[in-house]
Amino acid sequence: MDAPSFGAHAIGFGTAPPCVPANRLTPKHASPYDLPAPHRQLRRAALNESNSGPIAAPALQLVALSKRFGDVVAVDNVDLTIDEGEFFSLLGPSGSGKTTVLRMIAGFELPTAGAVLLQGVDVTSRAPYDRDLNTVFQDYALFPHLSVQANVEYGLRVKGVGKAERRRRAGEMLDAVRLGSFGTRQPSQLSGGQRQRVALARALVNRPKVLLLDEPLGALDLKLREEMQVELKTIQAEVGITFVFVTHDQGEALSMSSRVAVFNNGRIEQVGPPREIYEAPTTTFVATFVGTSNVLSVEVSGQLLGVDAAHSLRPERIRVDGEPAGADEVSIGGAVDDVQYLGSDSRIRVGLSDGSHLTATVPSHTAADITKDDSVILTFPSSAAFKVVDTGTAAGDELADLEPLELEAVSRNPDS
Ligand code: ATP
Repeated sequence: MDAPSFGAHAIGFGTAPPCVPANRLTPKHASPYDLPAPHRQLRRAALNESNSGPIAAPALQLVALSKRFGDVVAVDNVDLTIDEGEFFSLLGPSGSGKTTVLRMIAGFELPTAGAVLLQGVDVTSRAPYDRDLNTVFQDYALFPHLSVQANVEYGLRVKGVGKAERRRRAGEMLDAVRLGSFGTRQPSQLSGGQRQRVALARALVNRPKVLLLDEPLGALDLKLREEMQVELKTIQAEVGITFVFVTHDQGEALSMSSRVAVFNNGRIEQVGPPREIYEAPTTTFVATFVGTSNVLSVEVSGQLLGVDAAHSLRPERIRVDGEPAGADEVSIGGAVDDVQYLGSDSRIRVGLSDGSHLTATVPSHTAADITKDDSVILTFPSSAAFKVVDTGTAAGDELADLEPLELEAVSRNPDS
């Protein structure tokens, strides 16, 4: 892609003083006044500059990043900081803007507004080849006529690295992705998972500061995909390079990432470690897109919890064993209208007095006697319900249809 001439040389960044590693560039070594005016303020804010001494820059920063395609706002004012060595996932449904963000980081797309900083250096308008990062795509994009070894060596050859050094580094990287003995094969002689690992080795061999991965496991079948999730996480830990991973698969994001950003309509709804995202979602969208959740409307929350705000409640936090509510627990009665047997767990959908539903997920061995039309009592700790901002619910979620309820509270601990 042609980019405006606003590269490292022109803005005076990227050249560290001798003996100062690039990742130690600080405001002291790289003055913001070398930047064109609109970027100075962004960069100052992004680097949190102060007089209190040098601060190591994060691996990647997005500052007020936006992208419009005509009338479509694909990315809307996104701020994000990704630290060195993170396995960071951009998670969201189709069309939520995650690929456009990745493409702006890679330099394939110019932002309409905002900045992309790589280790503190503004790379917003640099061409893709002038950014110290690499991208792995879903379709591998291997050269079919080159051997595995030659594919991995390719980037080093372009950079003019000598033959012996190329051999050594490509060999090391193939070992790292457990394909050390596959160097002489052609891509057509490999499985899908092996091809994806060659693509990974090829992208990592130049030791980029950041590796971008755009749904790299999307083309693999489920079993291979699960194996590759473990492989990818292990390889990332071994090489220590920052990974930015785009996926619409919440299980994948939760199981692999140090942190996750959940996208919806071009905006980030929540950023945090997987456990926090799953257990304490802050919006109705996150609650229903990441796993399944009951969303308690403002009215229901008021009646059950005495709080005037919508709440999310994970199905596995609800018990249906009929035991009395303990301290800080809340109970409500209803009639079972569906039991779904899922193997180790069963999902029990309970109709409430106003015609809406709550769903509980319980171990199947505790639910053997529960059948349709049984009267049950649903009990959950009030601390399991999290206040959420109403940003809409993920499309297709069966739990998203809760209307304001006339609830029949069976019991509620008065102290809760
Ligand atoms: P997916 O998982 O399906 O790839 P995504 O979350 O990555 O989705 P994007 O590809 O970033 O979403 O798209 C965000 C929005 O921008 C969508 O509405 C999309 O149609 C629109 N969009 C993306 N690229 C273009 C383009 N080149 N021209 C016009 N609209 C675009």
